[in-house]
Amino acid sequence: MRDVPPWREPVPATGTMGEPRARGRFGEYGGRYAPESLVEACREVDEAFREARADPGFRGALAELLALHAGRPTPLTPARRLSQELGVRLYLKREDLTHTGSHKINNVLGQGLLAARMGRRRLIAETGAGQHGVATATAAALLGLEATVFMGERDIERQALNVFRMRMLGAEVVPVTTGSRTLKDATSEAMRHWVGVTGESHYCVGSVIGPDPYPWMVREFQRVIGDEARGQCAAELRTGVPDHVVACVGGGSNAAGTFAGFADTAARFVGVEAEGGAGAARGRLGVLHGCRSLFLQDDDGQIVEGRSIAAGLDYPGVGPEHAHLRDLGRARYVTVTDEEAVGAAVRLARTEGIVPALESAHALAWVIRAAGGGDLPAGSTVLMTLSGRGDKDVSTLKELL
Ligand SMILES: *Cc1c(COP(=O)(O)O)cnc(C)c1O
Repeated sequence: MRDVPPWREPVPATGTMGEPRARGRFGEYGGRYAPESLVEACREVDEAFREARADPGFRGALAELLALHAGRPTPLTPARRLSQELGVRLYLKREDLTHTGSHKINNVLGQGLLAARMGRRRLIAETGAGQHGVATATAAALLGLEATVFMGERDIERQALNVFRMRMLGAEVVPVTTGSRTLKDATSEAMRHWVGVTGESHYCVGSVIGPDPYPWMVREFQRVIGDEARGQCAAELRTGVPDHVVACVGGGSNAAGTFAGFADTAARFVGVEAEGGAGAARGRLGVLHGCRSLFLQDDDGQIVEGRSIAAGLDYPGVGPEHAHLRDLGRARYVTVTDEEAVGAAVRLARTEGIVPALESAHALAWVIRAAGGGDLPAGSTVLMTLSGRGDKDVSTLKELL
């Protein structure tokens, strides 16, 4: 096994995918749009994170957790049979093989360790389908912290198994009854709750969204995906770097972590969104959950609910750094339909023996479409992050197939 460090030394502030500019700005996006008391709490998180990432002791402790608990490094798997069918060389970065089955564990172990270092005794989290809630509950149990997870009442009904998992892990699950009773409202409620308890609790945001420093802190915790893949590509590919780097985008954390490992290369970045959750491809400028970014809105500027067969992709917006990468032309954002994603999931299962999460299947659906349509010339090398495994989606798939 290659010895790949979990994250590099702090990246200089210049160039893309380094630190954001003052006050958490990525171009015109980002910022810290929060009530006074949360602005102060975010400032404390920012300071603690900067200290921690410069501390070899913290980096070492996180590397150990990622290796011994989460099962890193994850393999880079050549998708041999599918590559032959598509006429491209496709490599899969296997986040589905981590403990708890998706990349979310990378972020929660980082933030959990940071919370403990800050003397906090509890993690607060929001969750939609329950994936980030389960990951947070897992990290809390491992680190001896409490966990309170806010979840929309409708999602609680739809995701009974994950609710049970969180409770089994010792977390408190708080039903959210406001608004549409889904992820957007759970996030608002978690932030409201944090206001009164910032001294004892850390708010563990699940993607590259929210007020500064969350978008870049979460990206830095997910950078391990891109850094490992970079080393693996160097060993595997003749050119050392793939022609394309592809990942699915909900809030955008697995994509941001993957892209970050290749920011200084000529690799082309493609973020794949769900047709019904296309914040980067179709969103408009707005402010939600503490940050300025691109969100799906109606004509009155009201945020509209995202919708996708993949619960992890129905966030109605996208992280501010993705909005900026889009403006710069550094990354392209494309959409695929539910049907294309389901087709891609079945195809991966039957050619490679891997049942992907429906989120990850979106990224693959674009690869399949692009290879057929000329966006990916024959012989191109493609690195795709397989963000999670499909066990959670079998009941959805069972009704369709
Ligand atoms: C949550 C989730 C996503 C979407 O989140 P990002 O922050 O965009 O990475 C994608 N894939 C899986 C498996 C997830 O659980």
